[in-house]
Amino acid sequence: MNNSRSLDWAQIKTVFLDMDGTLMDLAFDNYFWHEYVPLIYSKNKGIDDVEAKQLLLGMYQRQRGNLTWYCTDYWSSQLDLGIKQLKQQVATKVSLFPLVNEFLTWLQDNGKRSVLLTNAHMDSVDIKMEQTGIRAKFDRIITSHSYGYAKEQDEFWPLLADDEIYQCEATLLIDDNVSVLQAADRHGIKHLRSVLRPDTTLPIQETQGYLGINNFHDIVDGLIEF
Ligand SMILES: [Mg+2]
Repeated sequence: MNNSRSLDWAQIKTVFLDMDGTLMDLAFDNYFWHEYVPLIYSKNKGIDDVEAKQLLLGMYQRQRGNLTWYCTDYWSSQLDLGIKQLKQQVATKVSLFPLVNEFLTWLQDNGKRSVLLTNAHMDSVDIKMEQTGIRAKFDRIITSHSYGYAKEQDEFWPLLADDEIYQCEATLLIDDNVSVLQAADRHGIKHLRSVLRPDTTLPIQETQGYLGINNFHDIVDGLIEF
């Protein structure tokens, strides 16, 4: 792990970027899974809203860290709901963090390969790309569902290395999930950054020694808002 505060951009050729909580406010996902889905579920099942929240929370916790946790198909079948359709109903609540467009444009202008690297299901990626209009800013979009393992699992990283050409020494990963940074660290990714406040409605998170960014100004000097 290279933990110097400033990034030496001259060394970096590839940038892996997480989506939810890194480029987009995790408040959307927290609202969706902890408010909206329980609400619809409670109506469908004829149970109390509070009871539904507790029931679903238990189900979520049992899947955390597994790819199933991120799988809209899994939850659609478990909960007997159309998760993709429900997401589309509230998609206007998706919001990009400040300076994301500017940062992605800066990466393009400076010849860095930018890869969206997410555990989100492609259905969610499609909804969020449509909503934010940033799809064309990436050289490639990879969802861990195509490898069968989540980014926080060790099995993910050799599969990524087989599929995408990058040098560990010249790669930056920005991800709000500390378990993901730890896995990337174990597999040699040299430049790692966390996100201090992935959900703007919650306090700053503990980043276990990884440097966290407040916004993209912290790693690129002089980004100017469009
Ligand atoms: Mg994330």
